Amino acid sequence: MKDLLIFDMDGVLVEVTESYRATIQATVKHFTGDEPSRVEIQDWKNRGGWNDDWLLSHRMILERGGKVEYQTVVDHFQKLFLGDGTNGMILREQWVAREGLFERLKDSHDLAVFTGRLREEAYLTLNRFAPGLFGLVVGSDDVSKPKPDPEGIHKIRSIVEHRACWYVGDTIDDARSAKAAGVPFVGIAAPANPRYGELVDILRGEGAVAVLDDINTLEAVVAKGSAQ
Ligand SMILES: [Mg+2]
Repeated sequence: MKDLLIFDMDGVLVEVTESYRATIQATVKHFTGDEPSRVEIQDWKNRGGWNDDWLLSHRMILERGGKVEYQTVVDHFQKLFLGDGTNGMILREQWVAREGLFERLKDSHDLAVFTGRLREEAYLTLNRFAPGLFGLVVGSDDVSKPKPDPEGIHKIRSIVEHRACWYVGDTIDDARSAKAAGVPFVGIAAPANPRYGELVDILRGEGAVAVLDDINTLEAVVAKGSAQ
């Protein structure tokens, strides 16, 4: 039996500044004429409860006085994000892990994903960068309650037999989900994040056992085997 590493996806496995966050900006601009800054988006994320980019886009539109149905916003967001398969924002994502990281980790760890994405959308990216690497992927359509609820973590832990377990994420909702599940949390805060210092403080304040710039230094944290 191995230790178990559960990863959030966006901002952890993949860099999404040019994909999801740019899609939020473009969607809000489309319906209001006013483009939110990346700082404004990060401020919403840091507040907690805004893990869902569709809900966040709709909220930011309403705040700007836009009057548009939620589903209309979702449809436009998805059109920009997925495109026709050759031109969507999703293609701007960048895989964060350097060559060899997961090859080494998987010798001693089972690897899983708990993401706020729809499972199918998670696989679009995983199949592109790391096919077959993650044994179990739990998406937003696999749980009845989204993060910060711990349901997805519980689900993975009930399916994959394991010894120690960690959850690796980049938002306050990820940290709260891990805490509610009773699993040690490793925070990711990219130095390029417009609210870097605040995010580090938030993740530490929620009990992160470590806060890393990115997952490439994760081995030092999870090799200790101290978690339960
Ligand atoms: Mg994330």
